[in-house]
Amino acid sequence: MYAVGAETDRRLEIPGEDLPGSYSAAEFVFWYNGHPDYRHLKFDLNVEDVAVVGIGNVAMDVARILTQDPEELAASDMPDYAIEALRAATRIRRIHVLGRRGPAQAAFSPKEIKELGALKYADLVFEPHEAALDELSRAWLEKEKDPNALKNAEYVEKHSRVKPAGKPREIRVRFLVSPTEFKAGPDGRLTQVLLERNELQAGKDGSPRPRGSGRFEKLPAGLAFRAVGYRGIPIPGVPFDERSGRIPNREGRVLDEAGNPRPGEYVVGWAKRGPSGLIGTNKLDSAATVNAILEDFAGAAPRPRPPVQADPAAVEALLRERGVRFVTFDDWHALDAEELRRGAAKGKLREKFTDIGAMLMFLEEKRGR
Ligand SMILES: Cc1cc2nc3c(=O)[nH]c(=O)nc-3n(C[C@H](O)[C@H](O)[C@H](O)COP(=O)(O)OP(=O)(O)OC[C@H]3O[C@@H](n4cnc5c(N)ncnc54)[C@H](O)[C@@H]3O)c2cc1C
Repeated sequence: MYAVGAETDRRLEIPGEDLPGSYSAAEFVFWYNGHPDYRHLKFDLNVEDVAVVGIGNVAMDVARILTQDPEELAASDMPDYAIEALRAATRIRRIHVLGRRGPAQAAFSPKEIKELGALKYADLVFEPHEAALDELSRAWLEKEKDPNALKNAEYVEKHSRVKPAGKPREIRVRFLVSPTEFKAGPDGRLTQVLLERNELQAGKDGSPRPRGSGRFEKLPAGLAFRAVGYRGIPIPGVPFDERSGRIPNREGRVLDEAGNPRPGEYVVGWAKRGPSGLIGTNKLDSAATVNAILEDFAGAAPRPRPPVQADPAAVEALLRERGVRFVTFDDWHALDAEELRRGAAKGKLREKFTDIGAMLMFLEEKRGR
């Protein structure tokens, strides 16, 4: 069973994408969450304007983190190195969140955009002409009646008429724009994002699709995060669909190149469905994979059980015998309790371990006690 998620981000495939100052939002999110493989990254946050490309919940998360009250961050479970870096990022003034389609097609959730509209440290700003619905989107909304899209469109239209309160920072959510190039200044670092304005036209299924208008604008930005979706990383020897970034499957059964199921191989989660949906969505979806396994093995004769399976303690004994270093669920609980204890001592929700060596050392010391 492959349950490996979708751990890398999609690229924009535009010139200048790899300039210093241009990052993947996925890496930034891992960094401020204390992921051991990403904690050593350095982000130069000493800029006034930040571009966030994409308009889904990850883009919203990044915009919120960059504009949150430092005292609130300090009480959260964010690692201290990230809190310090964000506290020191005092130059940041504007976060430009860039969406290629209109407000009715935005991928953020109504709850998320409302939260951004109620931040203590930042005003949420829309351009009135981009917030107003075009005829195509209006007709599409009436036909589809998607409750989230209706709520988003209504909120954006209403909020676009609210006068900014003059808070220290601004989140400017832009619609109908696509970055076409990242440009560097004399020092070789990102200074500007070239944007093409889009128009919406009906796609094959009638849904509004963006099309470049040939009209461009320049957006100052010393820092850019791309948040245009995640994709899976191929595993050697396991089929992978480069186009969708997923493991090809039918109801969770992994398919070979000819489209036939590979016996005994299954997939769940984002690796199966692609990077969309919350944990609950994936839990529900995993039932189909489990049913496929039950069906495939329904007629199979029960295999004789090797004796080792009869005794769970034998698994640990076998691992010890082979010199494998392993952690148990009790270890996990011990780490969890220690993180909460260290957090409480500092007035934080939790103080995370962000280094695997430190986690193992803590567990060894605990066992030795
Ligand atoms: C920024 C962000 C915020 C989110 N916020 C929420 C939220 O608030 N609530 C919510 O319900 N959902 C949230 N989600 C969605 C949620 O993360 C996914 O729905 C869920 O994690 C998908 O589960 P998964 O098991 O497919 O993948 P994952 O949870 O990503 O698990 C995959 C695991 O496989 C491991 N792995 C990868 N490759 C290999 C390999 N080759 N060998 C061994 N192990 C490997 C990874 O390290 C990882 O531990 C968020 C997602 C993102 C990106």
